[in-house]
Amino acid sequence: MVESSDPSMRTVTVELGDDRTYPVHVGRGAVTRLAELIPERSRRVAIVTQSGIPHTIDTGRDQRVFVIGDGEASKTLSTIESLCESFAEWNLTRADAVIGLGGGLVTDVAGFAASVYHRGLPVIHVSTSLLGQIDAAIGGKTGVNLPQGKNLVGAYWQPRGVICDTEFLDTLPEREWRCGMGELAKYHWLGGGRLDELDLDDRVAQCVRIKAEVVASDERESSRRAILNYGHTLGHAIEVAGDHQLRHGEAVAIGLIYAAELAQSLGRITADDVAEHRRVVAGYGLPTQIPDDLGDDELITLMGRDKKVLDAGLTFVLDGPNGVEVVHSVDPELVRSTLAALR
Ligand code: NAD
Repeated sequence: MVESSDPSMRTVTVELGDDRTYPVHVGRGAVTRLAELIPERSRRVAIVTQSGIPHTIDTGRDQRVFVIGDGEASKTLSTIESLCESFAEWNLTRADAVIGLGGGLVTDVAGFAASVYHRGLPVIHVSTSLLGQIDAAIGGKTGVNLPQGKNLVGAYWQPRGVICDTEFLDTLPEREWRCGMGELAKYHWLGGGRLDELDLDDRVAQCVRIKAEVVASDERESSRRAILNYGHTLGHAIEVAGDHQLRHGEAVAIGLIYAAELAQSLGRITADDVAEHRRVVAGYGLPTQIPDDLGDDELITLMGRDKKVLDAGLTFVLDGPNGVEVVHSVDPELVRSTLAALR
């Protein structure tokens, strides 16, 4: 991970194995760096976006916009199929490029389409949501949902570069901000420190740095990348049990506090550390309590996924003396009693 020396622009370089690297340009106006990320030989650029994204880009090439639907119901194989058909009708070739212009949904879909069309062509992400800029656009995970579950089909397909232009966030709806903040909060304990004291550009850049560093150390999520799921075990259960009334980032925020309480119950962190989790989450205007209508039994089943796991104890990502790490075999009774701290 290398930092640019230009103070007006924050550039983080994601360093993967085999000398593969790519830049992430962060800051207001970062989109001016887009053209240099497009391969010289690309004559055409396919821009994948949504009708609700109020931003356009000029690539200086023969460009065409392909609009996909909004919401998780649009994140499907049939969207990939129709995108690829449209690419083919336009005679997009392997030498050309795809740009994902949007939030995490768009970049996941654009990246996946780019990974399979002509067996793979270059993709560049221009991320327009907070969650996208600090998380989804970086790291090369792409994919779509199946009726059986989220993100079940996909590929690792690293972008050639990522633009995180924070000016694009000016139009982000309030709730999308909050969702992004839920994911942002977790970085406080993944090496980010007092992110809430930084201005937005530095805050986003710091999150990008952490994500880049974690991805560099574990590109295919064999182990360390799992720490990015801090707060997600209860968070995911709350999302599912509540039928997605709380959005992902909001549910993760509650999950972060729960993970802190659980870590304290296990003697891994102090009461002051738990208080810091509560301060950060509340400070970002995020929820700190489990919604009343969600029962312990359902949440525990969802956290354990199936009975076998419950018998052997549950797995969590928890803070502790060595920082945030994966902890196995957590006693289900402790998991249950700790839920009370968030009621
Ligand atoms: P999203 O992409 O669905 O965007 C949320 C809403 O905000 C959409 O309606 C979108 O059109 C709108 N929007 C985006 N940018 C805007 C802007 N600048 N102005 C106005 N409206 C704007 O949601 P998200 O939170 O960005 O991403 C969630 C998706 O990311 C999920 O599908 C999730 O699975 C995926 N994800 C992927 C990774 C990864 O590593 N690949 C990581 C985390 C999440």
